Amino acid sequence: MRPSILIIHTGGTLGMAAASGSQGLVPGPFLDRLLDHLPELREIADLELEVPFNRDSSSLEPSDILQIAGHIRDRHSKYQGVVVIHGTDTMAFTASVLGFTLSDLNIPIVLTGSQRPLSFIRSDARGNLIDAVTLATREIPDIGICFGDYWIRGVAANKSSVHRYCAFDSPNLPHLAEFGLNIQFSPHAGKFERNVPSGVGENLESAIAVYTPHPGMPWEPAPPWAKAVLIQAYGAGNLPMGRPDLVHLFEDANARGLPVVVTSQCASGGTNLATYDLGKRAAALGAIQGGLHTKWAALAKLGLCLGASFDIETVRKAFGTSWAGEPV
Ligand code: ASP
Repeated sequence: MRPSILIIHTGGTLGMAAASGSQGLVPGPFLDRLLDHLPELREIADLELEVPFNRDSSSLEPSDILQIAGHIRDRHSKYQGVVVIHGTDTMAFTASVLGFTLSDLNIPIVLTGSQRPLSFIRSDARGNLIDAVTLATREIPDIGICFGDYWIRGVAANKSSVHRYCAFDSPNLPHLAEFGLNIQFSPHAGKFERNVPSGVGENLESAIAVYTPHPGMPWEPAPPWAKAVLIQAYGAGNLPMGRPDLVHLFEDANARGLPVVVTSQCASGGTNLATYDLGKRAAALGAIQGGLHTKWAALAKLGLCLGASFDIETVRKAFGTSWAGEPV
């Protein structure tokens, strides 16, 4: 029996065209006709295309991402796999949210997009789409980004290049698959424990204050709107704990009941707050170790924890547990 694949187009460069009278790229009108442009996709599977919205991914809101998740959950039982066409700018965040909220569906969910629009010469869109639809037929229950030469688990992914056709990497987890003459799957593709706590997925909170320190940066307490803090610390989790304004940030967050998660500015490796005295001092003030979480996985997990009204100790436990195959 031929596999049935659902393609959900949400926007991004893949479907864009040059706007008349300007140099900028805008969402193009031709996506409804995507399958007319790429008839060879139909050789791989029976396809249905849906377009819940068509936007540059840098304009997406949490409600849009939950809409994509809900759309897939509602329809998945009719399909062997799902392909989500998405802009590259926030694809790693959406892939993290989908990775956490849809891991129980046990079907391949493949996000893809392109660096050049489908209608442009030398576009990477055609190859990425063909690879993504092929992956979606393979019955490997993982949720990841198919781009350039690789399939990368969404909860471990990061956009690493504005111009390379291999635009995403997975610095703390080997690729799920590599595309060459054949598709070379890694042994861990589709294999991870599902530990997402119940209650996760209804809401995605984005009121998270993110700090990326540089030497001498003044520290302000989290703004009044913040419901949590994410600090992208130096290296293994070091922060200038001798700074009274930083200590005040922690004390203020504690008084307000805000979780403070500490990840690393470095793409590869993660935080271990026990390594240095400065990390230990942050931990003593309540810092939650973000470990190997990418910035996007950390924001997604924190947003989902807050959306589920988890208390600080439950958030701490969440960052010490791999919910859906993310390195922790
Ligand atoms: N700005 C675009 C987007 O994220 C970039 C891309 O798709 O490559 O929608």
